[in-house]
Amino acid sequence: MKKKKMTTAFGKPVGDDINSQTAGAKGPILVQDMHLVEKLSHFDRERIPERVVHAKGAGAYGYFEVTADITKYTKAAFLSKIGKKTDLFVRFSTVGGEKGSADAERDPRGFAIKFYTEEGNYDLVGNNTPVFFIRDPMKFPDFIHTQKRNPATNLKDPDMFWDFLSLTPESIHQVTILFSDRGTPATFRHMNGYSSHTYKWYNEKGEYVWVQYHFKTDQGSKTMTASEANAMCAKDPDHATRDLHESIEKGDYPSWTLEMQILTPEQAKDFRWDLFDITKVWPHSEVPPITIGKMVLNKNPENYFAEVEQSAFCPSNFVPGIAASPDKMLQGRIFSYHDTHIHRLGTNYQLIPVNMPKNAPELNYQRDGAMRVDNGGGSGPNYWPNSFGGPSPDESALEPPLPIEGSATEHAYALVDDDFVQAGNLYRNVMSDQDRANLIGNITGHLGGAQKRIQLRQAAIFYKADKDYGTRVAKGLGLDIAEVEKLAAMDQPERVKATAS
Ligand code: NDP
Repeated sequence: MKKKKMTTAFGKPVGDDINSQTAGAKGPILVQDMHLVEKLSHFDRERIPERVVHAKGAGAYGYFEVTADITKYTKAAFLSKIGKKTDLFVRFSTVGGEKGSADAERDPRGFAIKFYTEEGNYDLVGNNTPVFFIRDPMKFPDFIHTQKRNPATNLKDPDMFWDFLSLTPESIHQVTILFSDRGTPATFRHMNGYSSHTYKWYNEKGEYVWVQYHFKTDQGSKTMTASEANAMCAKDPDHATRDLHESIEKGDYPSWTLEMQILTPEQAKDFRWDLFDITKVWPHSEVPPITIGKMVLNKNPENYFAEVEQSAFCPSNFVPGIAASPDKMLQGRIFSYHDTHIHRLGTNYQLIPVNMPKNAPELNYQRDGAMRVDNGGGSGPNYWPNSFGGPSPDESALEPPLPIEGSATEHAYALVDDDFVQAGNLYRNVMSDQDRANLIGNITGHLGGAQKRIQLRQAAIFYKADKDYGTRVAKGLGLDIAEVEKLAAMDQPERVKATAS
């Protein structure tokens, strides 16, 4: 093999990479030793800000293949033909933990996909849960603060965690999933991925439907019990990262089947649930999912930092045929992801190879900025409109208009008991006896660390979802059941007052 010569960052051959230049054998180091200066100052700048959420993750490349004709629903070119394949990159993650935290911690898992389509990159940035804790982005920074560390002690704090959730009853559905064993998936390969949000698909004629995506794992859904997960955190904090890498390395490629739930605007009018409330699912019996494709992961990244750490997904990255819905959490994320990547990676983050729209090169009049590493539009015009043959907008990329009415103000969701129904259905109708027993144990193990008044407030919320659920949590915590029942009978503002101190 030909010997490769080491060089400095500016390409000069390096003569010695062990000994610094000094004035005499025992003398001080010379500032003229540019190889040493460059090596140290580059090292000092190796870390970029870690993601505020989803800091710990693993990624892989693969493809998506269409298996059904869905052209009556969407004109997206990458979904236009049975058998059509599109390259993609996926990043799985935990949410609350820092970059070095354990993969087995109880947490939702991120499930982010970047499709490199011929009409630009389409990013679907979902989770392994079909719902979320809150439904207004105004609450998001507060919610995340409660899942992180106490500002005084720098410790995770059950009081912060449960105080916020018990003051935010719409979280009950996601809390029930998180504290079931689905909150500790066996690996990234053994979990489903959900869009969670509702999106809009529209066809060539401009007709639109509302959709939700369900990526069902072909490996089978597998979870860990709390004791298995705790043991895994201690044994191998990187177990899911390792599992993904090793299975792809040995040719055991993980795959997911994509099922869609689809509602026409007509069907949506009489639908029982608010389509744009991310704390709710669309029951399968009312909106049966249809299978439309398969995702396969078959290539590991070569360099973790370049490809996984610098990957940047934006729920705002749509292609013609797919668009946002009025889901408030989605609207908040549309701003926040792009903004966070500009902070973390710089204004030209979409030029980083893993983020580049490699099958539809960028053509516009955005210019310059830090780390503009391509030719930045070359000598072409840098304004629009121009009459020098620069790229021009194409009306066919416009999405069909969405009729909206009402007043512009801060609209609150009505405080109705709807928020407890689906959590109760999950507890009663979907979970097995063993699932329920594990759920209660997982909750009491964690909620037991919070103050008693917070335990009471949260137990009342479990009780509202299902009597048996609330009663077993209360028993597990040694709470007075009559007191929990009394709190459950109150409306939320009364309950908050009764448990204020
Ligand atoms: P179904 O009986 O038709 O479907 C139940 C779904 O629940 C399945 O997709 C299953 O996933 C999933 N599931 C099983 N155990 C758990 C768990 N511990 N945590 C979260 N999901 C689980 O029910 P419905 O559609 O009528 O919905 C009933 C409840 O099921 C909902 O209130 C919701 O909590 C939950 N659910 C519903 C989904 C939906 O989109 N309708 C999606 C996911 C959950 P799998 O097929 O992988 O086993």
